[in-house]
Amino acid sequence: MRWAIIVHGGAHTITVDKIEPHKAGCLRAVEAGAALLEKEGSALEAVEAAIRVLEDDPTFNAGFGSMLNSEGEVEMDAAIMEGERLRAGAVASIRGVRHPISVARHVMDTHHVLLSAEGARRFAQERGAELCDPAELVHEEQRREWESSKEVRGSDTVGCVALDRFGNFAAGTSTGGIMHKMPGRIGDSPLIGLGLYADNSAGGVSLTGDGESIMKLALAHRITNSICNGEDADRAAEEAIASMARRVGGEAGCIVLDRQGRVGVAHNAENLAHAYRTSEMRCATASVQKQR
Ligand code: ASP
Repeated sequence: MRWAIIVHGGAHTITVDKIEPHKAGCLRAVEAGAALLEKEGSALEAVEAAIRVLEDDPTFNAGFGSMLNSEGEVEMDAAIMEGERLRAGAVASIRGVRHPISVARHVMDTHHVLLSAEGARRFAQERGAELCDPAELVHEEQRREWESSKEVRGSDTVGCVALDRFGNFAAGTSTGGIMHKMPGRIGDSPLIGLGLYADNSAGGVSLTGDGESIMKLALAHRITNSICNGEDADRAAEEAIASMARRVGGEAGCIVLDRQGRVGVAHNAENLAHAYRTSEMRCATASVQKQR
């Protein structure tokens, strides 16, 4: 059966000097996931593997290199979901872990869906996740940007959607949120049905952009609903971003796979870094803009 994987690295204006690092990072991540899908790995494994690559890459606002809150600290949100049994796990405002997406995956194996702050970190420790000094996640460039502007803004959040050979979908999202956010602020990224969703009867979705806008329209769930109602991945993606802009304003982008493994991409921000590969392709393709 056909497999497919798509990743994103945030919706915003990407300056010329950052285009290549964004494309290269997305390609590395998508190939890490594709290597697992080729060997009959699960969509869930592929999503986690791809997002871990992006969390290690300081080009992106997730894991190492996350944006800093108003107190100059890294507080991260992440979530993962699988579409067969609708199991989901998420962490919010977590500090001092290298890979929030892997902690989210551990949460998925408990009775709970979302753990936050200190409780989430204690849980990560109990599960043997990689802990670090929170200061080790701060990248020089983020520190400089934090010092030079007080603007509250997001970008470079990461996400992934995969479909495996067995027809199962998974989706994931990971972020440091937005620069100068209030401590404790949580965006759309770790919220099931808002920043991501996966359901085998429709497909999978991951979003990025203005969390406060994405949340108000529960965009991820809206997209999977549209697919259930007969839209293809691309039209469902376009409709969701347009409706957000119309109803509440804001900039965002999304990546989608539908039941047939078709790829959907939409953004009203100038750029959306993304890369994808399907089982028919010999290697992945990356872009910072939707290819029409
Ligand atoms: N959606 C993320 C948030 O609001 C930010 C982003 O995607 O850049 O936390």
